Amino acid sequence: MFEKILIANRGEIALRIQRACRELGIRTVVVHSQADTEAKYVRLADESVCIGPPSSRDSYLNIPAIISAAEVTDTSAIHPGYGFLSENADFAERVERSGFVFIGPRPENIRLMGDKVSAKDAMRTAKVPVVPGSDGALPDDPQEIIRIARAIGYPVIIKAAGGGGGRGMRVVHSEAALINAVSMTRSEAEAAFGNPSVYMEKFLQNPRHVEIQVLADEHGGAIHLGERDCSMQRRHQKVIEEAPAPGIARKLIDRIGDRCADACRRIGYRGAGTFEFLFENGEFYFIEMNTRVQVEHPVTELVTGVDIVQEQIRIAAGQKLRMRQRDVQIRGHAIECRINAEDPFKFTPSPGRITAWHPPGGPGIRVDSHVYSGYQVPPYYDSMIGKVISYGEHRQQAIERMKVALSEMAVEGIQTNLDLHRHLMADPGFATGGTSIHYLEEMLAQRG
Ligand code: ADP
Repeated sequence: MFEKILIANRGEIALRIQRACRELGIRTVVVHSQADTEAKYVRLADESVCIGPPSSRDSYLNIPAIISAAEVTDTSAIHPGYGFLSENADFAERVERSGFVFIGPRPENIRLMGDKVSAKDAMRTAKVPVVPGSDGALPDDPQEIIRIARAIGYPVIIKAAGGGGGRGMRVVHSEAALINAVSMTRSEAEAAFGNPSVYMEKFLQNPRHVEIQVLADEHGGAIHLGERDCSMQRRHQKVIEEAPAPGIARKLIDRIGDRCADACRRIGYRGAGTFEFLFENGEFYFIEMNTRVQVEHPVTELVTGVDIVQEQIRIAAGQKLRMRQRDVQIRGHAIECRINAEDPFKFTPSPGRITAWHPPGGPGIRVDSHVYSGYQVPPYYDSMIGKVISYGEHRQQAIERMKVALSEMAVEGIQTNLDLHRHLMADPGFATGGTSIHYLEEMLAQRG
C-alpha cells in the first residue's frame, strides 16, 4: 500500500479523499491555491503545499506545480478527485512518467473515453447499447449530412466529440436548420475544445439519466455497483441523485451493468468509472463514460456498503478487487442533495463568508462538506459547498429523513439552494419518482 498520497483537488472531495487515506493509514499531502490556505482540510492534512494564486489555471490546473509538490514531499501516488485534471490524459501520463502512480485509469483509456466519438465506437464493439446516430464523426459533405439525419429521423442533436460540461450541443428539429447548426457547433467546438469534430445522435425527447458505477482492477477483474438516477438536472448540471433508480427492474440493471463490466475488461480499464446512459421506454442508450470518481458516488456507497474512494486507492496500488459480482448487494435507498452557494432564483454564485453553518445529523444522514462557520467561500471555483445524503430502508424513508435533515440545516451569510431542495422533497413528481431530465427545468420555468 502507498505510504503517502497527494490530493490534487480542493473542497469536499479533497476532504473525502483525505478521510479515505487516513482510514487506510496513508499519509496525505494537500496542494492548494492561495485562496484555500485557511481551509480546515488543508490544516488536517499531514502536509500541504501552496501551488499558486487563486485562479484554477495557475493552481489546480498547473501540472508542473503539482508534479513538483509531489517530488518535494516524496509522494507515492496522486489522486485527482473530480473536475480539474481528473480526466486529463496528458496529466495522467506526466504523473506516471515522473514516477508516481496516478489513481485512475491508464492515460490511453482516459483519451479513448474523452473523445465521445471513439468512446461510442468502443461501446458499440463491446455491445453496450448507444444512442442511434452517425457512425463516427460527421463528414464535410452537406448532402451526406442530410442523408444521415434523414436515416436517423428528426429531431437530432449535434454534439462535439470533445465536448463536456453540457456544452457543445445543438438540437435540430428540421432539415432547414441542419447544415447551419452543424457548422455552428463545429466552430464552437473548435473554439471551446480545440477539436472541430462533431457527430449526430437521435434526440431523445423525454429520457431519464441513469448511470452505472463500475470498479475494475488491473488483473482483469471488473464489477458494477448498480445504478444512480441523476435526472433532476438544471442546465445539464445534476442537482439531486439517488440509488437505486426508481421503478427500473433489477434484472434490467444487472444486464446493462454486466455489459459495462465486460466493456471494462475488453478495453483494459482500471479504477472506478461511470457509464452514463439516457433511459427511455425501457431501453438504455450510452452517452459517455466518466473516468473518475463522481460527485454523486456516496449514494452508491450507502446502498452497497463499498467505499469507492478506498477501492480506487487499492486498485491503483495493484490489488485485486476484493469482491465478485455476486457479493454486491443493493440494500435500501439513498438520496443526495447538492448544496450550492447560489442565488435561489437566478442561480448566480453567492460566494462570501459563512457566518453560521449548522449541518444536520441523525439516523441515515451523511454530510460531505469541507465548510464550517467562518469559512470564506471563494469566488474562483465551483459553487458546490457540500452534499447532504440520506439513507433509508426504502425510498420513502430516505425522503422523510432528507426532509428532516433539510429542515434542521441552516447556512447563514451566503445564499444557498436549500429551499429548492426542501421544495423538491415535497414535490409530488419527485415523490412518485422516475421523472425525466426536463422535469426540474419545466418546474422552474413555471415558478417564473
Ligand atoms: P456532457 O459531457 O457535456 O455532459 P453528455 O453527452 O453527457 O454531455 O450529455 C449531457 C446531457 O445532454 C445529457 O444528460 C442529456 O440531458 C442531454 N443529451 C445528450 N445527448 C442527448 C440525446 N441524444 N438526446 C437527448 N438529450 C441528450
